[in-house]
Amino acid sequence: MRLLIFLFLFYLAYRLIKKLMLPGQPSAKMPEQEPLLPVDDVMVKDPYCETYFPKRDGIKKVIKGQTCYFCSTECRDEYLERIEQSERD
Ligand SMILES: [Zn+2]
Repeated sequence: MRLLIFLFLFYLAYRLIKKLMLPGQPSAKMPEQEPLLPVDDVMVKDPYCETYFPKRDGIKKVIKGQTCYFCSTECRDEYLERIEQSERD
């Protein structure tokens, strides 16, 4: 009976040592995500005054299915006016 207890303790010690030596499975490394550039950080050109500015600061306007960005509402309005005028001719 004593031997059995000894074996049991030995087994527990063995498991403990094994656990200490091999600390489980190496945790699955999360694939490091590439830092995605914010889309709104790109520089765009105002088609009216031809100034470059960050897209996020621009005024978005879809003209004839094309997304345009303007540095200001004034430029947007002037540009739209210009388009309307050119269409009128
Ligand atoms: Zn402008």
